[in-house]
Amino acid sequence: MIEVKDLHKQFGDLEVLKGITTTIERGEVVAVIGPSGSGKSTFLRCLNMLEIPTSGTVSVDGFELTKKGANVAKARQNIGMVFQQFNLFPHMSVLDNLTYAPINVLKVSKAEALERAKKLLERVGLSEKIDAYPSQLSGGQKQRVAIARALAMEPNVMLFDEPTSALDPEMVNEVLDVMKGLAETGMTMVVVTHEMGFAREVADRVLFLDEGILMEEGKPADLLLNPQTDRAKRFLEKVL
Ligand code: ADP
Ligand code: MG
Repeated sequence: MIEVKDLHKQFGDLEVLKGITTTIERGEVVAVIGPSGSGKSTFLRCLNMLEIPTSGTVSVDGFELTKKGANVAKARQNIGMVFQQFNLFPHMSVLDNLTYAPINVLKVSKAEALERAKKLLERVGLSEKIDAYPSQLSGGQKQRVAIARALAMEPNVMLFDEPTSALDPEMVNEVLDVMKGLAETGMTMVVVTHEMGFAREVADRVLFLDEGILMEEGKPADLLLNPQTDRAKRFLEKVL
């Protein structure tokens, strides 16, 4: 579903990604872990061209986004993204947050968009908040709306960048539970996370990034419990 070949990203003189190669299968849930500043967000943002790679290729669902002249906007419709800071439209109700892009970008009818929004809100447990505004929601509720909003575009891939890092501890699980449910539906997911419990329980594979290098990848049970590199060992000692 996602094919990354020799991905490099530089910001000026700073080389943030130093040649990452990996393949993510359809339906796979991949957790990306690593120290702060190791390039996790940049990696994720390169998957949908929010950052333009310096070199290398990224293909999603058979479409090469890095190809010259590629219709990135179109490809992105297939790739949902959820950020640490929710990024809901603050001046729109929950319903409008969920229906805006389907109606205006996908040209779905209002009735159909409303139907989808209702189903998605039910799925994330927020049916009663359909007319609320983001400012009236808790962090966990905002993030569940953000997930529903991404899903309203019916993407084939979902990217999550530390979706629970900005939440109070008691709200982390309500968001992880929604993500777990999504994983169970067979969604292809790439999740940058510090939640090692989630990585162990839900991920099919873990990628350990360090200083822009994919140092290790493997099944959660192998990588988390029996890391092969000193860097992964040191990182895991701190977070587990
Ligand atoms: P992580 O998500 O693992 O914490 P990031 O991908 O956010 O790491 O950042 C990796 C490195 O790239 C950091 O040194 C960060 O300061 C730098 N960086 C990220 N985005 C930019 C940018 N837009 N311009 C310059 N440097 C950046
Ligand atoms: Mg980050």
